[in-house]
Amino acid sequence: MKKLLIALSIGCLLGTACTKGDVRFVTIGSGGVTGVYYPTGGAISRMVNKKIDEYGLKVTVESTSGSVFNINAVLSGDLDFGIAQSDRQYQAYHGLAEWADLGRQTDLRSVFALHPEAITLIASEASEIRSVGDLKGKRVNLGNPGSGQLQNSRDVLAAFGLTEDDIIAEYVKEVEAPGLLQDGRLDAFFYTVGHPNGNIKEATSGRLKVYIVPIVGSEIDTLLAHNPYYSAAVIPHELYPSAINKRDIETVGVKATLVTSVSADPEIVYAITREIFENLEEFKQLHPAFATLTRRNMLEGLTVPLHPGALKFFDEVGLTQYVDPSLIVD
Ligand code: GLU
Repeated sequence: MKKLLIALSIGCLLGTACTKGDVRFVTIGSGGVTGVYYPTGGAISRMVNKKIDEYGLKVTVESTSGSVFNINAVLSGDLDFGIAQSDRQYQAYHGLAEWADLGRQTDLRSVFALHPEAITLIASEASEIRSVGDLKGKRVNLGNPGSGQLQNSRDVLAAFGLTEDDIIAEYVKEVEAPGLLQDGRLDAFFYTVGHPNGNIKEATSGRLKVYIVPIVGSEIDTLLAHNPYYSAAVIPHELYPSAINKRDIETVGVKATLVTSVSADPEIVYAITREIFENLEEFKQLHPAFATLTRRNMLEGLTVPLHPGALKFFDEVGLTQYVDPSLIVD
């Protein structure tokens, strides 16, 4: 018996959707603790765990290095679910960016879309960075390996004809970036994140004044025209009243999405989808970045096939008509 218990707990540590008694344990990979993914995972787990008698699920959230890590961990079976940027799910499925050598990750499945995220570029006032072109020669954090923003930063630099060799590139976790900026050890940092969030609040409300740099121009129009997963976005300046900005900040956006693997148990995917969709108003209270969520827009921005567990719920409530038909494959 003791051996069995040990085996079960080891299974719970290493495996996915493990069972103890009647309860199944499910993990969601999120992001850094000052971002929006971590509280998003917390919001999902809080809602599902409240109904433990109904669903028999205990959801736990892990802080991770972000989208790319989450997608890979879901595919390898180390995590049951992950939150990932819409552009990153597209790239994984099509074997692009970090997956160029690995090939197409066709076992990836989407569950639903979440809040919009904006490529956010924060610069200290002293750096005198007012546009992407001004990043040349500056010390800039592009994002840690495993994050979603690393590729977004590279894309934005490339759109302006810059590479990592034109700047002093750093790759630290976003949780560290506001402190480094305030200490003068970074001139600027990129973060692809929902708004408002604690990280940008921290960066904008320190001793040094900071500027949220618009990511706009004909260079960006070309980027938008060539990449289906990018769209224009705006960060309302009133969300960060201590920043120097006086106007809303134009930039580029993607979406946060919930992903899983084709092999995830459809009952578990169904339960999580149902819980969030049936109680969307309650869910939206759990983070201000969820303010614009609707049942319809939570089906938009997905580019990899829907998991059948999610589709079963959308079928039941008549939402499948709003799903891009190319996402219905299993
Ligand atoms: N978009 C970021 C990433 O994919 C995470 C943002 C967040 O944690 O809210 O790595």
